[in-house]
Amino acid sequence: MTSFKELTDFLKNVEKTSSKKTKVILLAEFLKRLDKNEIAIAVRLLSGKIFPEYSNLSLGVGWATIQKVLKTINVCRLFPYQMEMSIKDVYTLLEKIAKAKGEGSRTKKEMYLRSLILSLSREEIDFLLRIIFGEVRIGASEGILLEAVAEASNCTIEEIRRAYMFLSDLGDVAEAAITRGRIGINQVSLKLFRPVKPMLADMAYSVSEALKEHGGITALEYKYDGIRVQIHSKSGKIKVFSRRLSNITDNVPDIVRAIEDKIKGHDIVVDGEAIGTKGDKPVPFQDIVRRVQRKNDLFSILRELPLRLYLFDILFLDGKLLVDEPYRKRWEILERIVGEDFLAKRLVVSSRNEGEKFFQEAINEGHEGVVAKKLDSVYEPGCRGKKWLKIKEFDTIDCVIVAAEWGHGRRTGWLSDYYLAVLNEETGEFEVVGKTFKGLTDREFEEMTKRLLELRISEREYVVKVKPQIVVEVAYSEIQKSPKYRSGLALRFARITRIRWDKNPYEITTLNELWDRYRKQFERKAGINT
Ligand code: AMP
Repeated sequence: MTSFKELTDFLKNVEKTSSKKTKVILLAEFLKRLDKNEIAIAVRLLSGKIFPEYSNLSLGVGWATIQKVLKTINVCRLFPYQMEMSIKDVYTLLEKIAKAKGEGSRTKKEMYLRSLILSLSREEIDFLLRIIFGEVRIGASEGILLEAVAEASNCTIEEIRRAYMFLSDLGDVAEAAITRGRIGINQVSLKLFRPVKPMLADMAYSVSEALKEHGGITALEYKYDGIRVQIHSKSGKIKVFSRRLSNITDNVPDIVRAIEDKIKGHDIVVDGEAIGTKGDKPVPFQDIVRRVQRKNDLFSILRELPLRLYLFDILFLDGKLLVDEPYRKRWEILERIVGEDFLAKRLVVSSRNEGEKFFQEAINEGHEGVVAKKLDSVYEPGCRGKKWLKIKEFDTIDCVIVAAEWGHGRRTGWLSDYYLAVLNEETGEFEVVGKTFKGLTDREFEEMTKRLLELRISEREYVVKVKPQIVVEVAYSEIQKSPKYRSGLALRFARITRIRWDKNPYEITTLNELWDRYRKQFERKAGINT
């Protein structure tokens, strides 16, 4: 049994070194020392994510609750007592906090939190708070943890990454690798009703760029502006999962009903986008989100909208894993099973003119643009790469808000100037690339202020530093070099185009991607990359 203190001491040690290699070795040694049933939870705590994404669990305690609990403890902690808490004990209490739901849940959450804090030392509490606020530095880098798991289990990093694609949780991967070894890890595959992270698209600036990247021929599909859905079905039972792996089946009865007949007889996993419709026209995702007060309401609002489903991929059919098949073949299978009605609109093109015409049709019909797909590409869960290239009308990136300033004038009383950050993949830190107060409605400012205050870490003068959690899509006119920010880059004329309640901060644009775009835009200006 490993104590929470050992985990805390271990972390302090790891943080002393800046060498990635040493970190990997230290982590691997630590993982090997753990009991079997501690591996998954230790890795989750180290990664700062606490619960697997597919579990639908979140702590639901903000800074204010923690402050409140800490205050009461200072008063009543007359007899400082301590018992050794194991990492398992701590995790069980964290689960209890997350699972407290419904009436009286606030009081229950506070009670569990209090009893947890009371059982820990000062140092352990600091560490716990860092876990809760997602600030465990070493863990921010998923890459390091995956390498450590490989090292601890004698599996190759490729084997570990592949298992991660199917399990979608670092803790589960570590447990499988270390307890079951190479044979076990190679048996890990896609399982029905266990969602995998969806494959993602990189950005291209034009159809011709996509054609060049894909070797002169590519499949263009409409880019629908809605909600990503992964549908699993077996023996007549259907479950629908969101992009962040939440089970949203109950919120999309229309979709379930619509597709039921087509997939009923199969064991199947398909991937697509559900969009809201009004008459014949798509309702932009932004308009759906505007009606949503909080992240958790996002999916319940879907119930009120007529939804349409567009499928564009198939991952599994009747016992056969299809992710390693080329996209061309997967499309054929999908077409055969679900028929035209549910397919994304698509055209295989090899000329720029044809492609641009199709792109324009997508825009004219009210969609966001197109996604270009390489015909021979495999499906890589959770990966963003050039095999899929999204082409939109505006250049946008996804940022996370790391701080905000109190507004003045008309915006007095609101946190209205937002510090926008991208992810530095190498350090795992978020780096500011711009600031904006543009793009939100008054109601959104109000809601945003409320949410940001719940995420407050500290406040100095008029700047409130917040836990990086709220993701926003930001449009900009240009990327410039900037000595002002540590990132070295700044967005010109940044404007929030929508709040992405559906994205998590580790899915946003990376600093490397932004540098790439910076260089590309330069090429385009010089007329090389038209
Ligand atoms: P973004 O959210 O801007 O990174 O764009 C990628 C998202 O576009 C995907 O995660 C899907 O939710 C959505 N999308 C809409 N239509 C398609 C399509 N035909 N192929 C792939 N993704 C699509």
